[in-house]
Amino acid sequence: MIYLDHNATTPVLPEVFEAMRPYFCEEWGNPSSTYKFGAKLKSAIETARSQVAALIRARRSELIFTSCATESNNAAIRAALKANLGKRHIITSGVEHSSVLRHCMALQKSGYRVTYLSVDRDGLLKLADLENAISDDTAVVSLMWANNETGVLFPVKEIAELCQSRGVLYHCDAVQAAGKVEIDVRTVPVDYLSLTGHKFHAAKGIGTLYVSRKAPFSPFIHGGHQERNLRGGTESVPLIVGLGKAAELAQGQTATYATKVRPLRDHLEMHILSSVPDTELNGHRTERLANTTNITFGGVDSEALLILLDSEGVCASSGSACLADSAEVSHVVKAMKPETGTARQVIRFSLDPAITMNDIEVTCAATIHAVEALR
Ligand code: PLP
Repeated sequence: MIYLDHNATTPVLPEVFEAMRPYFCEEWGNPSSTYKFGAKLKSAIETARSQVAALIRARRSELIFTSCATESNNAAIRAALKANLGKRHIITSGVEHSSVLRHCMALQKSGYRVTYLSVDRDGLLKLADLENAISDDTAVVSLMWANNETGVLFPVKEIAELCQSRGVLYHCDAVQAAGKVEIDVRTVPVDYLSLTGHKFHAAKGIGTLYVSRKAPFSPFIHGGHQERNLRGGTESVPLIVGLGKAAELAQGQTATYATKVRPLRDHLEMHILSSVPDTELNGHRTERLANTTNITFGGVDSEALLILLDSEGVCASSGSACLADSAEVSHVVKAMKPETGTARQVIRFSLDPAITMNDIEVTCAATIHAVEALR
Protein backbone atom coordinates (compact mmCIF):
# COMPACT_ATOMS: atom_id res chain seq x y z
CA MET A 1 0.00 0.00 0.00
CA ILE A 2 1.21 3.49 -0.81
CA TYR A 3 -0.56 5.72 1.66
CA LEU A 4 -0.81 9.30 0.41
CA ASP A 5 -3.64 10.52 2.63
CA HIS A 6 -1.78 11.79 5.67
CA ASN A 7 -4.00 14.86 5.95
CA ALA A 8 -6.88 12.47 6.63
CA THR A 9 -5.08 10.51 9.32
CA THR A 10 -1.68 9.05 10.18
CA PRO A 11 -0.60 5.71 11.68
CA VAL A 12 0.23 5.50 15.37
CA LEU A 13 4.04 5.30 15.53
CA PRO A 14 5.50 2.26 17.32
CA GLU A 15 7.15 4.51 19.94
CA VAL A 16 3.78 6.15 20.58
CA PHE A 17 2.08 2.78 20.93
CA GLU A 18 4.79 1.56 23.30
CA ALA A 19 4.32 4.67 25.45
CA MET A 20 0.57 4.01 25.59
CA ARG A 21 0.74 0.25 26.14
CA PRO A 22 1.12 0.10 29.97
CA TYR A 23 -1.93 2.32 30.42
CA PHE A 24 -4.36 -0.21 28.96
CA CYS A 25 -3.94 -3.40 31.00
CA GLU A 26 -1.53 -2.50 33.82
CA GLU A 27 -1.98 1.15 34.81
CA TRP A 28 -5.70 1.27 34.10
CA GLY A 29 -6.84 3.22 37.14
CA ASN A 30 -8.94 6.37 37.24
CA PRO A 31 -6.70 9.44 37.66
CA SER A 32 -9.35 11.10 39.83
CA SER A 33 -9.21 8.33 42.47
CA THR A 34 -7.64 9.08 45.83
CA TYR A 35 -5.69 5.82 46.17
CA LYS A 36 -2.24 5.69 44.59
CA PHE A 37 -3.13 3.20 41.83
CA GLY A 38 -5.35 5.86 40.28
CA ALA A 39 -3.92 9.14 41.50
CA LYS A 40 -0.39 8.40 40.27
CA LEU A 41 -1.73 8.61 36.72
CA LYS A 42 -2.08 12.36 37.17
CA SER A 43 1.66 12.68 36.70
CA ALA A 44 1.49 10.74 33.39
CA ILE A 45 -1.18 13.18 32.22
CA GLU A 46 0.89 16.18 33.29
CA THR A 47 4.00 14.84 31.53
CA ALA A 48 1.95 14.55 28.33
CA ARG A 49 0.61 18.06 28.84
CA SER A 50 4.18 19.37 29.06
CA GLN A 51 5.12 17.51 25.87
CA VAL A 52 2.17 18.93 23.95
CA ALA A 53 2.81 22.40 25.39
CA ALA A 54 6.41 22.21 24.17
CA LEU A 55 5.25 21.48 20.62
CA ILE A 56 3.48 24.85 20.43
CA ARG A 57 5.63 26.70 23.02
CA ALA A 58 2.67 27.11 25.36
CA ARG A 59 2.48 26.87 29.11
CA ARG A 60 1.29 23.53 30.45
CA SER A 61 -1.60 25.27 32.22
CA GLU A 62 -2.87 26.60 28.89
CA LEU A 63 -3.79 23.17 27.47
CA ILE A 64 -7.05 21.27 27.83
CA PHE A 65 -7.31 17.69 26.57
CA THR A 66 -10.37 17.04 24.42
CA SER A 67 -11.69 14.11 22.40
CA CYS A 68 -10.76 15.54 18.99
CA ALA A 69 -10.26 18.79 17.08
CA THR A 70 -13.95 18.93 16.20
CA GLU A 71 -14.61 19.30 19.94
CA SER A 72 -11.72 21.76 20.36
CA ASN A 73 -13.02 23.95 17.52
CA ASN A 74 -16.57 23.90 18.87
CA ALA A 75 -15.39 24.56 22.43
CA ALA A 76 -13.21 27.53 21.48
CA ILE A 77 -15.89 29.31 19.47
CA ARG A 78 -18.50 28.68 22.19
CA ALA A 79 -16.18 30.01 24.89
CA ALA A 80 -15.51 33.19 22.92
CA LEU A 81 -19.23 33.75 22.32
CA LYS A 82 -20.10 33.13 25.96
CA ALA A 83 -17.50 35.66 27.03
CA ASN A 84 -19.03 38.26 24.69
CA LEU A 85 -22.75 37.76 25.17
CA GLY A 86 -23.64 41.16 23.76
CA LYS A 87 -21.82 40.54 20.48
CA ARG A 88 -23.48 38.62 17.66
CA HIS A 89 -20.92 38.57 14.86
CA ILE A 90 -18.43 35.80 13.94
CA ILE A 91 -15.77 35.94 11.23
CA THR A 92 -14.42 32.84 9.54
CA SER A 93 -13.50 31.84 5.99
CA GLY A 94 -15.31 29.85 3.34
CA VAL A 95 -12.54 27.22 3.32
CA GLU A 96 -12.52 26.13 6.96
CA HIS A 97 -13.01 22.54 8.06
CA SER A 98 -16.62 21.41 8.50
CA SER A 99 -16.14 21.43 12.30
CA VAL A 100 -15.90 25.23 12.12
CA LEU A 101 -18.15 25.89 9.13
CA ARG A 102 -21.09 23.77 10.21
CA HIS A 103 -20.88 25.08 13.74
CA CYS A 104 -21.02 28.62 12.38
CA MET A 105 -23.99 27.71 10.19
CA ALA A 106 -25.77 26.29 13.24
CA LEU A 107 -24.99 29.49 15.16
CA GLN A 108 -26.48 31.53 12.32
CA LYS A 109 -29.75 29.69 12.91
CA SER A 110 -29.67 30.84 16.51
CA GLY A 111 -29.27 34.48 15.54
CA TYR A 112 -25.54 35.03 15.00
CA ARG A 113 -24.30 36.89 11.95
CA VAL A 114 -21.37 35.14 10.25
CA THR A 115 -18.96 36.63 7.71
CA TYR A 116 -17.34 33.96 5.55
CA LEU A 117 -14.22 35.63 4.17
CA SER A 118 -13.49 34.72 0.57
CA VAL A 119 -10.16 33.50 -0.76
CA ASP A 120 -8.48 34.17 -4.10
CA ARG A 121 -7.76 31.61 -6.81
CA ASP A 122 -4.67 30.49 -4.89
CA GLY A 123 -6.63 29.95 -1.69
CA LEU A 124 -5.17 32.98 0.09
CA LEU A 125 -7.20 35.53 1.98
CA LYS A 126 -6.69 39.27 2.08
CA LEU A 127 -5.93 40.77 5.48
CA ALA A 128 -7.74 43.93 4.37
CA ASP A 129 -10.95 41.87 4.05
CA LEU A 130 -10.55 40.71 7.64
CA GLU A 131 -9.77 44.23 8.78
CA ASN A 132 -12.89 45.58 7.08
CA ALA A 133 -15.09 42.79 8.42
CA ILE A 134 -14.19 43.34 12.10
CA SER A 135 -16.71 45.53 13.88
CA ASP A 136 -17.65 46.38 17.45
CA ASP A 137 -20.13 43.51 17.24
CA THR A 138 -17.46 40.87 16.38
CA ALA A 139 -17.09 38.29 19.15
CA VAL A 140 -14.60 35.91 17.55
CA VAL A 141 -12.50 35.29 14.46
CA SER A 142 -11.84 31.65 13.51
CA LEU A 143 -9.29 31.18 10.73
CA MET A 144 -7.20 28.07 10.18
CA TRP A 145 -3.41 27.76 10.05
CA ALA A 146 -3.20 25.37 7.09
CA ASN A 147 -5.95 24.13 4.83
CA ASN A 148 -6.61 20.40 4.99
CA GLU A 149 -7.55 20.08 1.30
CA THR A 150 -4.94 22.28 -0.37
CA GLY A 151 -2.33 22.82 2.35
CA VAL A 152 -2.54 26.60 1.77
CA LEU A 153 -1.17 28.56 4.73
CA PHE A 154 -3.03 31.56 6.09
CA PRO A 155 -0.96 34.51 7.43
CA VAL A 156 -1.73 33.56 11.02
CA LYS A 157 0.78 35.87 12.66
CA GLU A 158 -0.70 38.90 10.91
CA ILE A 159 -4.24 37.67 11.58
CA ALA A 160 -3.46 37.18 15.28
CA GLU A 161 -1.83 40.62 15.58
CA LEU A 162 -4.72 42.29 13.79
CA CYS A 163 -7.28 40.60 16.05
CA GLN A 164 -5.23 41.51 19.10
CA SER A 165 -4.99 45.16 18.02
CA ARG A 166 -8.76 45.28 17.47
CA GLY A 167 -9.54 43.51 20.75
CA VAL A 168 -11.22 40.52 19.10
CA LEU A 169 -10.67 36.93 20.23
CA TYR A 170 -8.90 34.75 17.66
CA HIS A 171 -9.29 30.98 17.35
CA CYS A 172 -6.98 29.06 15.02
CA ASP A 173 -7.59 25.51 13.79
CA ALA A 174 -3.95 24.37 13.54
CA VAL A 175 -4.74 20.69 13.03
CA GLN A 176 -2.87 20.38 9.73
CA ALA A 177 0.07 22.51 10.81
CA ALA A 178 1.23 20.42 13.80
CA GLY A 179 4.52 18.71 13.11
CA LYS A 180 4.69 20.20 9.62
CA VAL A 181 5.49 23.84 10.41
CA GLU A 182 6.68 25.55 13.59
CA ILE A 183 3.86 26.66 15.86
CA ASP A 184 4.88 29.17 18.49
CA VAL A 185 2.06 30.76 20.44
CA ARG A 186 4.53 33.20 22.02
CA THR A 187 5.12 34.86 18.64
CA VAL A 188 1.69 34.19 17.08
CA PRO A 189 -0.68 35.65 19.67
CA VAL A 190 -3.70 33.40 19.22
CA ASP A 191 -6.30 33.13 21.97
CA TYR A 192 -7.34 29.57 21.15
CA LEU A 193 -5.64 26.91 19.04
CA SER A 194 -6.90 23.41 18.20
CA LEU A 195 -4.87 20.27 17.56
CA THR A 196 -5.75 16.61 17.10
CA GLY A 197 -3.50 13.62 17.73
CA HIS A 198 -4.34 11.46 14.75
CA LYS A 199 -2.84 13.92 12.28
CA PHE A 200 0.60 13.57 13.85
CA HIS A 201 0.90 9.88 14.69
CA ALA A 202 -1.06 9.69 17.96
CA ALA A 203 -4.31 7.76 18.27
CA LYS A 204 -7.71 8.86 17.06
CA GLY A 205 -10.01 10.22 19.74
CA ILE A 206 -7.64 12.62 21.47
CA GLY A 207 -7.19 16.31 20.83
CA THR A 208 -6.24 19.41 22.68
CA LEU A 209 -7.28 23.01 22.92
CA TYR A 210 -4.77 25.71 23.76
CA VAL A 211 -6.42 28.56 25.64
CA SER A 212 -4.13 31.51 26.23
CA ARG A 213 -4.02 32.46 29.90
CA LYS A 214 -5.33 35.86 28.78
CA ALA A 215 -8.38 34.39 26.99
CA PRO A 216 -11.74 33.64 28.60
CA PHE A 217 -12.89 30.03 28.76
CA SER A 218 -15.95 28.24 30.02
CA PRO A 219 -16.54 24.49 29.58
CA PHE A 220 -18.18 23.10 26.47
CA ILE A 221 -18.46 19.60 28.01
CA HIS A 222 -19.91 19.97 31.50
CA GLY A 223 -19.25 17.19 33.97
CA GLY A 224 -16.74 16.30 36.63
CA HIS A 225 -13.74 18.18 37.94
CA GLN A 226 -11.33 16.86 35.32
CA GLU A 227 -9.07 19.24 33.42
CA ARG A 228 -9.29 21.83 36.21
CA ASN A 229 -13.09 21.94 35.83
CA LEU A 230 -12.72 23.02 32.19
CA ARG A 231 -13.65 19.75 30.45
CA GLY A 232 -15.66 17.03 32.14
CA GLY A 233 -15.13 13.33 31.49
CA THR A 234 -12.69 10.71 32.79
CA GLU A 235 -9.36 11.27 31.10
CA SER A 236 -8.28 8.65 28.57
CA VAL A 237 -4.81 8.16 30.03
CA PRO A 238 -3.44 5.93 27.22
CA LEU A 239 -4.57 8.33 24.52
CA ILE A 240 -3.25 11.35 26.42
CA VAL A 241 0.12 9.68 27.03
CA GLY A 242 0.30 8.77 23.32
CA LEU A 243 -0.53 12.34 22.35
CA GLY A 244 2.32 13.56 24.52
CA LYS A 245 4.80 11.12 22.99
CA ALA A 246 3.64 11.96 19.45
CA ALA A 247 4.00 15.68 20.22
CA GLU A 248 7.55 15.10 21.46
CA LEU A 249 8.43 13.19 18.28
CA ALA A 250 6.73 15.79 16.07
CA GLN A 251 8.65 18.56 17.79
CA GLY A 252 11.90 16.77 16.98
CA GLN A 253 11.09 16.45 13.30
CA THR A 254 9.34 19.75 12.47
CA ALA A 255 12.57 21.51 11.46
CA THR A 256 13.41 18.88 8.83
CA TYR A 257 9.86 17.96 7.77
CA ALA A 258 9.64 20.28 4.77
CA THR A 259 13.10 19.50 3.43
CA LYS A 260 12.32 15.78 3.52
CA VAL A 261 8.84 15.83 2.09
CA ARG A 262 8.83 18.75 -0.36
CA PRO A 263 11.06 17.16 -3.05
CA LEU A 264 8.77 14.12 -3.11
CA ARG A 265 5.61 16.21 -3.28
CA ASP A 266 7.09 18.47 -5.94
CA HIS A 267 8.18 15.52 -8.05
CA LEU A 268 4.70 13.99 -7.88
CA GLU A 269 3.02 17.30 -8.63
CA MET A 270 5.29 18.31 -11.51
CA HIS A 271 5.20 14.89 -13.08
CA ILE A 272 1.40 14.75 -13.05
CA LEU A 273 0.89 18.36 -14.17
CA SER A 274 3.37 17.99 -17.04
CA SER A 275 2.32 14.54 -18.26
CA VAL A 276 -1.46 14.52 -17.79
CA PRO A 277 -3.33 16.97 -20.07
CA ASP A 278 -6.05 19.20 -18.61
CA THR A 279 -4.77 19.19 -15.04
CA GLU A 280 -4.52 22.16 -12.72
CA LEU A 281 -3.01 22.75 -9.30
CA ASN A 282 -5.36 24.02 -6.59
CA GLY A 283 -3.51 26.09 -4.03
CA HIS A 284 -0.69 28.59 -3.88
CA ARG A 285 2.62 27.24 -5.19
CA THR A 286 4.69 28.27 -2.19
CA GLU A 287 2.38 29.42 0.64
CA ARG A 288 1.50 25.81 1.22
CA LEU A 289 2.34 22.83 3.42
CA ALA A 290 5.23 20.87 1.94
CA ASN A 291 3.31 17.59 1.98
CA THR A 292 0.08 18.47 0.15
CA THR A 293 -0.90 18.70 -3.49
CA ASN A 294 -4.44 19.11 -4.76
CA ILE A 295 -4.97 18.65 -8.47
CA THR A 296 -8.01 18.98 -10.73
CA PHE A 297 -8.19 16.32 -13.46
CA GLY A 298 -10.54 17.85 -16.06
CA GLY A 299 -13.29 15.49 -17.21
CA VAL A 300 -12.33 12.74 -14.73
CA ASP A 301 -14.65 11.68 -11.93
CA SER A 302 -12.62 11.73 -8.68
CA GLU A 303 -14.43 8.72 -7.26
CA ALA A 304 -13.59 6.58 -10.30
CA LEU A 305 -9.97 7.76 -10.25
CA LEU A 306 -9.64 6.98 -6.53
CA ILE A 307 -11.02 3.48 -7.08
CA LEU A 308 -8.50 2.81 -9.87
CA LEU A 309 -5.67 4.18 -7.74
CA ASP A 310 -6.82 2.00 -4.86
CA SER A 311 -6.72 -1.05 -7.11
CA GLU A 312 -3.04 -0.20 -7.71
CA GLY A 313 -2.49 0.10 -3.94
CA VAL A 314 -2.44 3.91 -3.83
CA CYS A 315 -4.57 5.62 -1.16
CA ALA A 316 -5.48 9.25 -1.87
CA SER A 317 -8.66 11.29 -1.45
CA SER A 318 -10.86 13.81 -3.15
CA GLY A 319 -10.74 16.28 -0.25
CA SER A 320 -11.69 16.22 3.40
CA ALA A 321 -12.16 12.71 4.82
CA CYS A 322 -15.01 14.09 6.94
CA LEU A 323 -17.03 14.85 3.78
CA ALA A 324 -15.78 11.94 1.65
CA ASP A 325 -19.24 10.37 1.54
CA SER A 326 -20.77 13.55 0.15
CA ALA A 327 -21.40 13.89 -3.57
CA GLU A 328 -20.90 17.66 -3.37
CA VAL A 329 -17.95 19.34 -4.99
CA SER A 330 -15.34 20.51 -2.49
CA HIS A 331 -16.33 23.79 -0.83
CA VAL A 332 -12.63 24.68 -0.71
CA VAL A 333 -12.03 24.35 -4.45
CA LYS A 334 -15.37 26.06 -5.14
CA ALA A 335 -14.37 29.00 -2.93
CA MET A 336 -11.08 29.36 -4.83
CA LYS A 337 -12.51 28.78 -8.29
CA PRO A 338 -16.22 29.67 -8.31
CA GLU A 339 -16.60 28.54 -11.93
CA THR A 340 -15.99 24.93 -10.73
CA GLY A 341 -18.97 22.84 -11.84
CA THR A 342 -20.81 20.26 -9.82
CA ALA A 343 -18.59 17.31 -10.81
CA ARG A 344 -15.90 16.19 -8.37
CA GLN A 345 -12.69 16.14 -10.38
CA VAL A 346 -10.12 16.77 -7.69
CA ILE A 347 -7.56 14.51 -6.03
CA ARG A 348 -5.56 15.36 -2.91
CA PHE A 349 -2.29 13.56 -2.30
CA SER A 350 -0.86 14.21 1.18
CA LEU A 351 2.56 12.80 1.97
CA ASP A 352 4.75 12.07 4.96
CA PRO A 353 8.54 11.88 5.29
CA ALA A 354 8.33 8.06 5.35
CA ILE A 355 7.25 8.05 1.67
CA THR A 356 9.98 7.05 -0.79
CA MET A 357 10.77 8.29 -4.31
CA ASN A 358 9.85 4.81 -5.52
CA ASP A 359 6.36 5.24 -3.99
CA ILE A 360 6.07 8.50 -5.88
CA GLU A 361 7.15 6.96 -9.18
CA VAL A 362 4.59 4.17 -8.74
CA THR A 363 1.89 6.76 -7.92
CA CYS A 364 2.73 8.87 -10.98
CA ALA A 365 2.54 5.84 -13.27
CA ALA A 366 -0.71 4.61 -11.67
CA THR A 367 -2.29 8.07 -11.97
CA ILE A 368 -1.31 8.54 -15.61
CA HIS A 369 -2.56 5.08 -16.45
CA ALA A 370 -5.86 5.53 -14.56
CA VAL A 371 -6.61 8.90 -16.15
CA GLU A 372 -5.98 7.47 -19.63
CA ALA A 373 -8.34 4.60 -18.87
CA LEU A 374 -11.07 6.97 -17.63
CA ARG A 375 -10.84 9.43 -20.49
N1 PLP B 1 -9.72 20.68 11.34
C1 PLP B 1 -9.02 20.27 10.27
C2 PLP B 1 -8.31 21.30 9.44
C3 PLP B 1 -8.97 18.93 9.93
O1 PLP B 1 -8.27 18.53 8.86
C4 PLP B 1 -9.67 17.99 10.74
C5 PLP B 1 -9.67 16.55 10.41
O2 PLP B 1 -9.97 16.14 9.33
C6 PLP B 1 -10.39 18.47 11.84
C7 PLP B 1 -10.40 19.82 12.10
C8 PLP B 1 -11.18 17.55 12.72
O3 PLP B 1 -10.34 16.75 13.47
P1 PLP B 1 -10.92 15.53 14.34
O4 PLP B 1 -11.01 14.39 13.39
O5 PLP B 1 -9.92 15.30 15.39
O6 PLP B 1 -12.21 15.95 14.87
